[in-house]
Amino acid sequence: MLKIENLHAAVDGKEILKGLTLEVPSGEVHAIMGPNGAGKSTLSYVLTGRSGYEVTEGSATLDGEDLLALAPDERAARGVFLSFQYPLEIPGVPALTFIRTALNAQRRARGEDEIAAPAFLKLAREKAAALKIDFEMLKRALNVGFSGGEKKRMEILQMAMLSPRFLILDETDSGLDIDALRIVADGVNALRAPDRSMLVITHYQRLLDYIKPDRVHVLAAGRIVASGGPELAHELEREGYDRYARAA
Ligand code: ADP
Ligand code: MG
Ligand code: MG
Repeated sequence: MLKIENLHAAVDGKEILKGLTLEVPSGEVHAIMGPNGAGKSTLSYVLTGRSGYEVTEGSATLDGEDLLALAPDERAARGVFLSFQYPLEIPGVPALTFIRTALNAQRRARGEDEIAAPAFLKLAREKAAALKIDFEMLKRALNVGFSGGEKKRMEILQMAMLSPRFLILDETDSGLDIDALRIVADGVNALRAPDRSMLVITHYQRLLDYIKPDRVHVLAAGRIVASGGPELAHELEREGYDRYARAA
């Protein structure tokens, strides 16, 4: 389980997270919603260890281990991932090659041997089939000429291949159309597992109609100011964030 307590973090000396407390038990999907500038993306960067984000107080542990003491690649080795909001296009590099490189980097950080080609291809076929992705697509250059929906599928597949323990999807600023919303939601639902937790950051209440989070949290002015069940997302859709912004 992920446990965040009284987390304070600053960017360029400016405090953005101001005492954020949140628990995501194993097997659960939690959504974070909130007004622009609340600190949602900052939270995902602090958890994955991006440089420039300074934790000044509080803690974040994954299964009791101090996450904040780990280097970014060590966090990835533990299965902590942030989805890519802006998919890279890599001409000349087949998607399969890209994924295998990422997987082997994770294995090296875990002190494991690189995955052999046959085992990798078997795993890729299994995961692609489970996510209803055409395996032939994985032989094309990563994301080059892919539609928005195909890029989303690739993103979900990449995450599935890396056996995430704790997965963060930050969709806040991307203009997801209804097809992309469904792909992300189907992907999240397919990745649900008892030993996996997910944090879905979104502006789109509609996404949560398909995902059905276990809990919904409101992040405003650097703190979680309200938590509830899926109905909280509908309330936010109806009433907006004004009263939370005022309370914060
Ligand atoms: P959200 O994702 O909720 O919209 P962010 O986490 O992106 O919010 O940003 C939170 C606050 O931090 C905003 O006021 C934003 O302007 C500020 N901020 C984000 N990144 C930086 C940065 N690199 N330097 C200074 N301020 C930043
Ligand atoms: Mg954001
Ligand atoms: Mg803030």
